[in-house]
Amino acid sequence: MAGQLIYPAFIAIGFWWSEREPDLPDPAWFVDPDWDPAIRRRIIWHLQDSFRMPNEWMGYSWCRFRCETAEQDLTLLSTGEYTNGTFIWPEALLHYIQHHHVRLPDEVISHMLAHPPYLYRPLNQAPEYHLEWWKHQRGWQLGAESFYSPVDIGFLTIQQTDPGQVPAQIELLKRFLAGIRGRLHTIDRIIAGERVTINDHLKDYVNPFMHKASKVGLVVSFRRMTVTEAAAWHKERTGET
Ligand SMILES: [Zn+2]
Repeated sequence: MAGQLIYPAFIAIGFWWSEREPDLPDPAWFVDPDWDPAIRRRIIWHLQDSFRMPNEWMGYSWCRFRCETAEQDLTLLSTGEYTNGTFIWPEALLHYIQHHHVRLPDEVISHMLAHPPYLYRPLNQAPEYHLEWWKHQRGWQLGAESFYSPVDIGFLTIQQTDPGQVPAQIELLKRFLAGIRGRLHTIDRIIAGERVTINDHLKDYVNPFMHKASKVGLVVSFRRMTVTEAAAWHKERTGET
C-alpha cells in the first residue's frame, strides 16, 4: 500500500470531483473521524507552511460538503495552490481536513511527516502537474458521497439595487456570464432594473460571484436544480443541438 513514489513532477492532490471533472475523487471517500489527532495537526501545519504558488491553476473551488463555513469564509475555498516540492494542492484542501475529517492517503502522510515543507526552494521554470496518481485514489469510505447533484446547474436570480454602479456591474456580469446564451441581452435587462432569472449551467464559482455582486449593488440568489429538474434540463439541451 504505502509504496515508494517516483516524482517526475509535482503530484497534484486534493482536487475533487465535479460535473466537469468526473474522474477526480470525492472527498467523502477520505473521511476518517478517527484519524490520530497528533498526526492530523502535523499535516495541517505542513500544508500551512508550504510554498504558495505565484500563479493560479484551477481557480475557484466550492466545498463539496456544502458547508456553512465555506459560504461565510470564501477565502478558504478560493484560488491559491500550495506545494512542498513533491505534491501540489489547492488552498481549499486545508478546509476539508479541518472541517470535514478528510484524511490524506498514507503515501502523502508519510512523505509530509518525513519532509519539512520549508526545505523546498521554488524552481525557475513552471512545474508540470500530474493528476493521474490522485485520480486513482479511492479512499476508505466505500460508496460515500459528499453531494447528490451538480452545484452549478440552477436558477440564478439577479436584480440591481444600486443604479449608481453600472460600470462595475457590467464588468462583473460580463465575466461571470461568459458562455451563457443571450448574455448581452440579459445584462441589458438587469441594468434596466429588471429582475432576471437565468436557468443555466453556471460556473462553479456561484458563491464568490454572489459575494462580489453584493459589493457592486446587485442582489443575487441561487437555487440549485433538483435532480428531476436537472434531468429535464439536460434532456431539453440535448434535444436542441
Ligand atoms: Zn466545507
